This record gives sequence, C-alpha cells and structure tokens, in this order.
Amino acid sequence: MKIQGWGRYTSIDAKVFSPSFDFECEGYLQSSPLICRGFGRSYGDSSLSQTVIETTKLDRFISFNQDTGLLSCQAGVSMNEILNLVVLRGWFLSVTPGSGYVTVGGAIASDVHGKNHHIRGSFSQHVISFDLLLGCGEIITVTPSRTPDLFKATCGGMGLTGIILSATLQLIPIKSSFISQRTLRANSLEEVCELFEANALSTYSVAWIDCLAKVRQMGRSLLMIGEHCVHGGLELVTRPKKNLPMDMPSWVLNPYSIKVFNFIYFQKSIFSNEKLDLPYLSYFYPLDAINNWNRMYGRNGFIQYQFVLPKAVGVRGLKIILKFISESNKGSFLAVLKVFGKGNENYLSFPIEGYSLALDFKMEPGIIDLVKRLDSMVEEMGGRIYLTKDSLMSEKTFKSTYAQWELFEEVRTKYGAIGKFTSNQSKRLGLQ
Ligand SMILES: Cc1cc2nc3c(=O)[nH]c(=O)nc-3n(C[C@H](O)[C@H](O)[C@H](O)COP(=O)(O)OP(=O)(O)OC[C@H]3O[C@@H](n4cnc5c(N)ncnc54)[C@H](O)[C@@H]3O)c2cc1C
Repeated sequence: MKIQGWGRYTSIDAKVFSPSFDFECEGYLQSSPLICRGFGRSYGDSSLSQTVIETTKLDRFISFNQDTGLLSCQAGVSMNEILNLVVLRGWFLSVTPGSGYVTVGGAIASDVHGKNHHIRGSFSQHVISFDLLLGCGEIITVTPSRTPDLFKATCGGMGLTGIILSATLQLIPIKSSFISQRTLRANSLEEVCELFEANALSTYSVAWIDCLAKVRQMGRSLLMIGEHCVHGGLELVTRPKKNLPMDMPSWVLNPYSIKVFNFIYFQKSIFSNEKLDLPYLSYFYPLDAINNWNRMYGRNGFIQYQFVLPKAVGVRGLKIILKFISESNKGSFLAVLKVFGKGNENYLSFPIEGYSLALDFKMEPGIIDLVKRLDSMVEEMGGRIYLTKDSLMSEKTFKSTYAQWELFEEVRTKYGAIGKFTSNQSKRLGLQ
C-alpha cells in the first residue's frame, strides 16, 4: 500500500504488516530491512521503508499504579489513550508532543519534547524501561542504568535499533484536567525572548510568531504560558471532530491570505495578559480538532521545518533566518517558538539548550532550494534540524550537526541492527 509522512510530500509503496501481538513481530524480522511505524505523525520519511511494521494494534495497557503514577503499556498505545485512562485518576503525561495521535513507540523513537522542555526535558527522561525486539529476535528490557548504550541509541534513534514493544512511563500528578493559559504579546523577537526568560519558571510556554511581519514588526508574537489548574476538577475531555474532506486547492494558501490570517490572529490577542482556563485537549492538541488538517496544503503536501539554535546565537540567529524567510515570501501558516533547556545524553535526540522554531512550507517550486539554504544557515550557526520533521537534510549536514552519529552506529552494530532496520530517511542520511 501507499504510505506517506504527515507532510504528504514523501510517500512510498510498501509492504505493511500490522501485528496484534508481540510474538508476531519476530516473524516479520525475516522481511527485513524494515522500519516501524506508529500513527505516521512524523512529517518526513522516517517511518517509510519497503517493509513497514505498523504498531497501532499493539494497543494494550499492561499495568497502572494509581499511587505512584507508573504506567506500562504496549508501544502502539497513543498519548490520547493514556490520558483517557489516567486523567480522571489524577495523573498526566510528564511530556507530551502537540498531537495526541502519537504512539508511545513513536514518542520514544523521536524522543519528543513538549512545551515544558525547559522544566522536564524530553519524553525519554520519564521512561523507566522499555522492551526492545532486536534484529536477532531477542527481546531486551532496556533501562538507562542497565543498558545505557541501547537506551541512548533507541531514544531519539528513529526506529533504527529495533522494535519497541512496550514501555513503562512515569506520570506526573495533577489536580485538574484544565490548564490555565495566559497570553502575552511581544512586538519583537528580543521582547518575546525576554518574556520567555521572565517566565522561565512557568511549566509550559510556547510562542506563536508571525514570520511574514517585516522589518520593525519582525518577530511580533504571542507567548502562551500554561499551568495545570488546581480548580475545575478531573474530567474526561472530549470534543467534536471536524473533517477536512478534500485537499485544498493550492491557491488557497498564498502569501497574501497568510498575511491576512496572521494579522487577524495577532490583532485578536491585542490585549496582553488574556487569561483562560482551557480543557487539556484544547491546550495541548489544538490541531487534532480537525481530522486530516494536513490536507490544507493541497495535494503536493508541505514540509515542516523545525530547527534549534544554541542560546549563544539564539536571537541574532533567529532574526537572520526569519528575515530570510520573510524576504522569500514563502509564508508559514504556523511558526512556533519554544525555549529548550539542557539536552540529554541520547545520541540523536534533537533538543539542545536554545531556541527552537517550527515552520510549515507548502510544497511549491523553490521550496527545496529554500530549505537547503536554511539547512546551511542552521548548520553554520551550530544548530540542528529535527529528524522527525525532516525529509530533505543532506548526509553532510546530518553528520556535522549530530556529532554522536558514530556512537549511534557503533551501538547499532553491536546489537545487530545494521541491515535489519532501515528507513528512507536513514538511507538519505548515510546511516547503514
Ligand atoms: C500536529 C503535530 C504536532 C506535533 N508536535 C510535536 C511536538 O510538540 N514535539 C515533538 O517532539 N514532536 C511533535 N510532533 C511530531 C511527533 O510527535 C513525532 O513525529 C512522533 O514520533 C510521531 O509518532 P507516531 O506514533 O506517529 O510515529 P511515526 O510517525 O509512525 O514514526 C516516527 C518514528 O518513530 C519510529 N517508531 C514508531 N514506532 C516505533 C516502535 N514501536 N519501535 C521503534 N521505532 C518506532 C519510526 O520508525 C519513525 O522513525 C508533532 C506531530 C504532529 C502531527
């Protein structure tokens, strides 16, 4: 069947197996090289290969201790399913990405981050252990202390060390299923970065940047600060789903329509310090409200581009890049700025201490050249591009920005992953 990354720019005809039980996975190893796939929410080609093991039927809970917040489940269980189970009981994910349709396996393999990286780090920092099926058919229980090399290679390792079958996670306690959100307005990049600093103790923070605003208004943004409420009670949150029934015609998103959208959105929040209590779904997963929102960019799809710059070059570097994008007139509908705390020791985990910006580019003539130019700028500034969003990075850029890639390959060699687990992305990046 034809499968795609979430950005729909990359696709492949693949043999797809959907095991319902762990023991079936071992049999599929004969069909290697292969790669695992959860909900396919990674934007590029990291979950694409000739043979794919789709894990969404490995969706059982194994145990949950309501006193300690330790949860064990199979790798195909989603963030939504976990929250449906635990929120009513007063627990929440320590780290969640911006979509609930992400599997535990996918969250570990991309070592995802949330709006609280500056406080809680990445997803793997709350993983107690996981069971990994190696290329030889052996299942190993991996923990940060007993098998540190395999832990550091698998978390953020984009499925290239083996098949994650199940995991045990540490959750955090909550008193309410609501998030108190405060919106602060900034008129420049300097201002929004100062606001991030001033609110460094806030649990969640993220800024929405209008990247088409030029010159004096460059970097105008809305910073959203969030805390778990103590009031409102513990409720299971549901919401009606809307559908985007077809691909949008490609002319709908153009520099002018995006500019108008950005202007209206920004003016709407003209009053600083707007305060709202939001159900957790609306706060963490706003885009999930519309099924298939990725069709908005038309049949040719889009590229999501997320990079991080070290703090030392942060504001200056962001300005150079935003100016470049603004002058290209290839607008981004969404531009999301986050501040990362210290990175962890995993070989390919994305976050380093600094500023991370995520942008969408509708696929159209000129975009590939634009992205290649951005890659060079990010590389020159000592930053890196997020593998789970990437579909175009060159081997050279990957190897110069992910300095520990050789250690990663050593661990893959040691545990028999070479030649067994391969994706279109790993081939492009020159991994064996
Ligand atoms: C709307 C939206 C918002 C997002 N927000 C964020 C965010 O805030 N922060 C962030 O970090 N990411 C974010 N993402 C990206 C997303 O969290 C990651 O791409 C995640 O890995 C997707 O999970 P998945 O289950 O769909 O995995 P897939 O996309 O199917 O696979 C992703 C990678 O994980 C590997 N993998 C999947 N399952 C397994 C397994 N069982 N064993 C071994 N390897 C496996 C695959 O081989 C692949 O390399 C967002 C994505 C969307 C669509």
